Amino acid sequence: MARKEIKHRQVIVIGAGPAGAACAQRLAEDGVDVLMIERRSIIGNPAQCGECIPNWGEVVGTFANLEDHQWLYDYFQFPERLKLHNLDNMRVFLPSGKAFHFELDAFAGHRLHFDGYLCDKALHAGADVQMDEALTRIQHQSKLDRDILVTTNGRYTFDYLIDASGSLAHVGRLRHGDDIRYRPEDQVPTMYAQVQGKVPETFDVFLGSVAPSGYAWIIPKGPDTANVGLGVRAGYLKGNLKEHLQEFCDELGFEVLSWGGGWIPMGGPVKTMVDGTTLAVGDAAGLVMPSNGGGISQAIISGCFAAEAILDNLDHGAPLDAYEVRLRASMGRALKNSLRTKNMGYTFFKGDLITEGILRILGPIGGIKRAMECDKPVWLF
Ligand SMILES: Cc1cc2nc3c(=O)[nH]c(=O)nc-3n(C[C@H](O)[C@H](O)[C@H](O)COP(=O)(O)OP(=O)(O)OC[C@H]3O[C@@H](n4cnc5c(N)ncnc54)[C@H](O)[C@@H]3O)c2cc1C
Repeated sequence: MARKEIKHRQVIVIGAGPAGAACAQRLAEDGVDVLMIERRSIIGNPAQCGECIPNWGEVVGTFANLEDHQWLYDYFQFPERLKLHNLDNMRVFLPSGKAFHFELDAFAGHRLHFDGYLCDKALHAGADVQMDEALTRIQHQSKLDRDILVTTNGRYTFDYLIDASGSLAHVGRLRHGDDIRYRPEDQVPTMYAQVQGKVPETFDVFLGSVAPSGYAWIIPKGPDTANVGLGVRAGYLKGNLKEHLQEFCDELGFEVLSWGGGWIPMGGPVKTMVDGTTLAVGDAAGLVMPSNGGGISQAIISGCFAAEAILDNLDHGAPLDAYEVRLRASMGRALKNSLRTKNMGYTFFKGDLITEGILRILGPIGGIKRAMECDKPVWLF
């Protein structure tokens, strides 16, 4: 039964994914009172992921100003038990079957294990979590000039609020409805299957009609298992995404063990990440790389930066807006280039022949590699 009294917490974090857990841990380690509210009954389940998790090398290679950040460096030293398969190489397949090879510094894991591990660390640091409890409404009390969070189990007030609720950005939506400044755009429907069969050693990406205006992937998780998925621009695939993925798996001789899916916000960062004392982090802030759908590292980094902005605000009265400034200085360029690459794909990848031609012109070094790494293709200015 829902509680009647209103509970007050210093910081409330909506969502216990990577962004929420990193933020809660960073705050709790500095003695801040923090509660994560999570609607799931099992952290990380169901997984909504291809399960390619970046190592620190990949993170500092992509984003600026992180080299000296000891806390983040330590955070990204994930235990070996989470690493099912090292992803040192990626192959990008053109429609003809020609492939370009690139180095990668990542590993395949189970999101269920990974998210559970991150949440455990936050709890160990002193954060609290309420499972099975969803934020459903935000009630503004004008007389007291405060917001009340209404959940499936009670009501809360807070000093600071973190929107770590993922791609649908529930806090932003509950407060601002359709206002696009607060909601991540271009939500791309994505499906994946856990499969068994003769899987490759490498992280394989397939471009062309197999995934119109998107891509298909095979991410090996062990000698005979992989996460295989498809992300396509909304409305661009004729037919059903699941059937299409089943066909893709059949062609590769994979047996599907289970299905999953979700939405990936591919429209770039939201315009406004700080709203009063509310900070949006991770997918809720639209921090996914639009060209490749990766968002775990940005979720962790933004969770940490949001926590540090709150700590600076508490200790020195520093403005919370500093969070957004710092985040954009670190990842703004990579996200912008990634968005440009995705938009180019949307414009030019029309049919296999054109896609093949453009990718061959782009070339493995000057174009595709830099685009995959969220750098500018060399011939763009
Ligand atoms: C199919 C797919 C494949 C992907 N593959 C990769 C990949 O291989 N590598 C990569 O780096 N990224 C990948 N991503 C992106 C990655 O999963 C996200 O960027 C990452 O999970 C973002 O973390 P987050 O903490 O911001 O959000 P989430 O992980 O989505 O966590 C949000 C949490 O908030 C909770 N929540 C939501 N609403 C409420 C509410 N109202 N009340 C309480 N709790 C709530 C949710 O239950 C969830 O636990 C993929 C995404 C999808 C959909």
